[in-house]
Amino acid sequence: MKFISTRGQTPPHTFSEAVAVGLAPDGGLFLPELLPDLTPRLAAWQNLSYVQLCTEFLGIFATDIPEDVLAAIVRRSYTHFTHPEIAPLQKLDDSTYVLELFHGPTLAFKDFALQLLGNLYAHQCRQTGRSINVLGATSGDTGAAAISGLLGQRQTAVFILYPEGRVSPLQERQMTCTGAENVYALAIDGSFDDAQRALKNIFADHAFSQRHRLSAVNSINLARVLAQCVYYLYAWLKLPPAERRRVEFVVPTGNFGNVFAGWLLAEMGVPILGFKVATNQNDLLHRLFTTGEYRPGPVQPSLAPSMDIQLASNFERFLYYELAGDAAQVRAVMAQLQANGGHRFDNFDRSTFSSSAATDAEITGIIRRVHERYNYIVDPHTACAFKELNPERVSVVLATAHPAKFPDAIQAAINCTPVHPALELLKPRPVVKYRLAADEAAIKAFIEERAV
Ligand SMILES: *Cc1c(COP(=O)(O)O)cnc(C)c1O
Repeated sequence: MKFISTRGQTPPHTFSEAVAVGLAPDGGLFLPELLPDLTPRLAAWQNLSYVQLCTEFLGIFATDIPEDVLAAIVRRSYTHFTHPEIAPLQKLDDSTYVLELFHGPTLAFKDFALQLLGNLYAHQCRQTGRSINVLGATSGDTGAAAISGLLGQRQTAVFILYPEGRVSPLQERQMTCTGAENVYALAIDGSFDDAQRALKNIFADHAFSQRHRLSAVNSINLARVLAQCVYYLYAWLKLPPAERRRVEFVVPTGNFGNVFAGWLLAEMGVPILGFKVATNQNDLLHRLFTTGEYRPGPVQPSLAPSMDIQLASNFERFLYYELAGDAAQVRAVMAQLQANGGHRFDNFDRSTFSSSAATDAEITGIIRRVHERYNYIVDPHTACAFKELNPERVSVVLATAHPAKFPDAIQAAINCTPVHPALELLKPRPVVKYRLAADEAAIKAFIEERAV
């Protein structure tokens, strides 16, 4: 299997090549050259464990990695999950399920992809004998999950930029209390956008980024999309057969990464009735699916900070399929978006997607109502998905973070503070972070000194 770029000007890459470079050289995003039809395999996959299913599924795409090696990579990637089912499906009532994606080491769904990505990087280091320096900017969960995925790996250093004072105290502890020597948490003076801009400039210096074999950890890596397809498949297989065809996955999303993975799986022949895109007050995607207009606005901080995004970076992948694989048209639309700050889609197929947006006040009310009704605590991101469920369908709500990661929001809603042992463990540990200006030269000098 080879992978092509949404912009059509990159020669086909193998799985490992596409994972290593992240963004395609023509500025596009990687997609499988051909989508497999999974229909004939579904019956045989019925009773597989999560790890077995993930190995089978990824094996279709990662054809350049020997089967036994891939199986070992997948096994290692999910050993640090604390629930035996990895992604348990909890039934709340006759038409409502929750797919819990927060049993990984950093208690958010990003662990599913980033534990795997860390092990794929390690495999590449072993294959090539070359070291790798991973660089990323985060507003919270991605940084913690990337650090956890690369913790203590040989021949690898990880540099994560985050805005000083603007991530939650627990998220900061997850990045700074690891005790690992290959991890550098860089607290940048400025906003997330300042950190992101510095990062982009560093990657734009090709000589520097090649000299240090820099790799970007962000939400557009192909491995992340494919790893995320697996839990949709696992949940679908767990549903009673009569409910499968009526299922709608309800997905808290910011940059369209998580929900795109589910949609892609449906394109491979898994019969799923629909997807609901649940945003917070940063409602770019809700506006898109209700009006056809894609127009990013200013970011408003919310109770669900990992969805405080106004640029749906994975949207380009969906666009490629919407435009029937016409890469020239993708390039034209992306250029227009850049030039005009927005785009109106005329013949936008909205049959499989519905959407909603939740304000902060609504999030607090939803946490309270879900708790009263089901005696179940949802985190503020997951709460967005509970805004209004379609009673005609079977809803599977994706729970993207453990409520203990956001104790203040839960306390305000239901007057109790959830705890999790993994977070309690971090509290007595020393915080090790490096304060830097949002200045490209200062950050480069820091990397220069510590890169492996
Ligand atoms: C990152 C994140 C999201 C949004 O994920 P997308 O890739 O934007 O769909 C939602 N919830 C939590 C807890 C997250 O960490």
